[in-house]
Amino acid sequence: MPVLDDLKSLLVTYKLCNRCLGRQFFYACPWIPTGIKGQIVKKIVGFVAAVNDDSEKECYICEGIINQLEDIGEKILDKLGEYEFKSYKIGTIFPPDVLEREDEIRSLIYPVDAASIKVEFNRYLDNFVCNRTKATIDNRDPDVKITVNIPYNTVHVDVKPIVIAGRYLKHVRNIPQTSWACRHCNGVGCEACNWTGKEYGTSIEDLLINAILPYFEGERGVLHAGGREDVDVRVLGSGRPFTLEIISPKKRNVNLEIVERDVNEKYEGVIEVKGLRYVDKNYISRVKSEMERAVKTYLALVKSEEPIDDASIEKVVDRLKGALIHQRTPRRVAHRRVDRVRLKRIYDVSIQRVSENMFKMTLKCEGGTYVKELITGDAGRTKPSVSGILGLKVECVQLDVIDIGEFNGEKK
Ligand SMILES: [Zn+2]
Ligand SMILES: [Zn+2]
Repeated sequence: MPVLDDLKSLLVTYKLCNRCLGRQFFYACPWIPTGIKGQIVKKIVGFVAAVNDDSEKECYICEGIINQLEDIGEKILDKLGEYEFKSYKIGTIFPPDVLEREDEIRSLIYPVDAASIKVEFNRYLDNFVCNRTKATIDNRDPDVKITVNIPYNTVHVDVKPIVIAGRYLKHVRNIPQTSWACRHCNGVGCEACNWTGKEYGTSIEDLLINAILPYFEGERGVLHAGGREDVDVRVLGSGRPFTLEIISPKKRNVNLEIVERDVNEKYEGVIEVKGLRYVDKNYISRVKSEMERAVKTYLALVKSEEPIDDASIEKVVDRLKGALIHQRTPRRVAHRRVDRVRLKRIYDVSIQRVSENMFKMTLKCEGGTYVKELITGDAGRTKPSVSGILGLKVECVQLDVIDIGEFNGEKK
């Protein structure tokens, strides 16, 4: 039989281990392990000398790599041991020369049922991990991605981040949203910052991460908020939407009601979180992009150097309610924002007098309105402004965000 003779002479020229030979008939009787299949084929073609030959290191295709399979499986389980996961994906990187040599052999015997060494590896590892962990294979969006690098003999586990969405309230002033480096030492640590390297002792991001990260045993956390208030501005009422991304979490099944309760007990009177829930990663960019447009309501305490009469207060309400204001990029942010004029709608205004030269003003504005500048006029860069209408120099003594509208997709 010429075919068998060809195969026999091929085996004489190219030494193949049982599994690499058996794999050339992978899809024929797929329940038989490739190692056994290889033995059978060698017997059939009369390549008796090699039937019990275990010296796979000399295999022309794999040079013994196939023998590492079981060890790699154990190594993967070892790496996965500390992580909670329900789904996984395994990828294998092979030295290109192994694949090239396999192609070369195939071009000599034209097997119709062959599978590549990659397929044998991945199938074995997939089944092995599945049997031992009861997790399922998910090639689209798995909880863990496992990369086996054969040339470097490494197993790398990449864990999908956990993303939590919610809203935060900030009940006190002078906590920034994220940490700023100390302006004296630029983050190195000095006397002025009490060796913390931070301009403000803490940040909303720090507080949330300190409280939430331990539940997930994550490596680190990143806060992504929908917009940012000035450091001296409180966030009350409905709170500001945010997402917290937890990188490399070991735990994934945490009851967020408990987390929420604990955060709120821990930081009572300082910050508060509401509506914590799990979301997927693309929600992060949605919060960031959609929030710019959300309608926001502010409460400002405005002070003038001179007394203000009732008629002037009425004039401010009349002129600003429903107005479209022209707002050139404020001087205080000009170094980091493009200098241009923005048109912003003021939906509603109401004023309550506090004293003869002070009043509280509630402003419902289009997202992205600079409220402090709407009050002071920013040296004529915002028109109209409270200062401009009054014809007086006024300052915004205190500012609170009291409502941030819902954005598309935030509703459950
Ligand atoms: Zn081999
Ligand atoms: Zn410092």
